[in-house]
Amino acid sequence: MPGWRLEHTYAALPPLFFSDIRPTPVAGPTMVAFNAPLAVELGLDPDVLNGREGADIFAGNALPPGARPIAQAYAGHQFGHFTALGDGRAILLGEQVTPSGHRLDIQLKGSGPTPYARRGDGRAALGPMLREYIISEAMHALGIPTTRSLAVVTTGEAVYRDSTLDGAILTRVASSHIRVGTMQWAAAHRDPSALEALSNYTRRRHYPSIPDGDESHLMLLDAIVERQAALIARWQLVGFIHGVMNTDNMALSGETIDYGPCAFMDAYAPETVFSSIDADGRYAYGNQPPIALWNLARLAEAMLPLCGPDRERAVTRATASLDRFETLFARHWLDGMRAKLGLFTQEPEDLQLVEDLLTWMHQQSADFTNTFRALTAGHLPDRADSGFDEWHLRVTARRTRQPQSQAEVHALMRGANPAVIPRNHLVEASLHAATTLGDLSVMTGLLDALGTPYDHDRDVTAFTAPADTGRPYQTFCGT
Ligand code: AMP
Ligand code: MG
Repeated sequence: MPGWRLEHTYAALPPLFFSDIRPTPVAGPTMVAFNAPLAVELGLDPDVLNGREGADIFAGNALPPGARPIAQAYAGHQFGHFTALGDGRAILLGEQVTPSGHRLDIQLKGSGPTPYARRGDGRAALGPMLREYIISEAMHALGIPTTRSLAVVTTGEAVYRDSTLDGAILTRVASSHIRVGTMQWAAAHRDPSALEALSNYTRRRHYPSIPDGDESHLMLLDAIVERQAALIARWQLVGFIHGVMNTDNMALSGETIDYGPCAFMDAYAPETVFSSIDADGRYAYGNQPPIALWNLARLAEAMLPLCGPDRERAVTRATASLDRFETLFARHWLDGMRAKLGLFTQEPEDLQLVEDLLTWMHQQSADFTNTFRALTAGHLPDRADSGFDEWHLRVTARRTRQPQSQAEVHALMRGANPAVIPRNHLVEASLHAATTLGDLSVMTGLLDALGTPYDHDRDVTAFTAPADTGRPYQTFCGT
């Protein structure tokens, strides 16, 4: 028995929010990547699914028992411009109820066109789907809330982009796929009852501790702001750059979602941007916190009709909710930075201490991850100079003003500073091997190293060097 237990609570929302649509069968489903540990968490039998039966299901050629395939509708601000969107190439099979009682969306991405596909072909290429698999699983191993990847299959069909590529489908697992853009979709239809249904559904599914009542919508907004502040802080602390923080790519569950042109920063530089379509740096590393707040402001606008009959009072209250973002973000970020430096206690000068390190890293173009890794190991980072020595004396003195032992300091730092992140050139090399040579062993090796990012005792030398090309790295929209 494969273990499917699919339910469909989302599909009980008003019809405005989805369309029934079946995946379009493909010519030759072949399993390329299968996440057995995740299958087990889902209550699915990896031995049954990692083969013919699984390939057919994850290609959309066969539906698992109890599936009710739908495409979800949403809108979104893309690079600041509002558009109607929806799952153009993704199909939700249902919500798997796991043995531990969690409800997780099982979604196929690249499974054929839907009513929201506009001119798109509904398909995806192998490279970008493997890319999402690698990065999302790396994020999960880093302990950062994220959607996950259960499988990638090739379709046996070509997709046509700038060149002809192998088609593939990713099976994505998520707490849900409700986005800021889903709320915007409801608001744009000026349908207060649909908007209220979505808000209630989101609250009960993701924030069940918030009670029913007049204040529930504002409390939901508060809670979403809080989770996003925590999430973006986690991104900043590992140098993750999402690349396309459009409002349709921000999940109300607080998970990282939609890995397109994302990447990890090598040399510390707040202006770092990887996406080839982001010429203005709207989604640059240093801009992620203000952009998250901008997106949350769009969410607040969409939810305003739910926030009471007195418009002025609603605006005041929603604004107060948004106003908490910066403080919450700053607190999460500074707490995280303290951990990265081995600091348990709080002193007023800590922010300055952190900022001075970052300034030094920026000036030296020091590698973000490796600098913290060296500090964790008690080594001098690359490019250490007298400026670094001076700073290092300060942090050492700072650590002596807390009661914790050296061993405790090291344990804290090891848990906060990854030894390995998905280095862009290694991700590219593994995708190159997989897509041009059919060699998956490079990716398997990379995934293995990325699976235990906080293990500082393992020899991961092959995975820690930043690219030495000198060229700025670019990722392209994952279509
Ligand atoms: P993304 O940039 O992946 O967040 O996608 C933005 C929008 O374009 C979403 O509504 C997608 O469903 C849609 N989309 C992207 N690629 C395709 C495609 N190949 N076919 C149909 N729709 C697509
Ligand atoms: Mg998207």
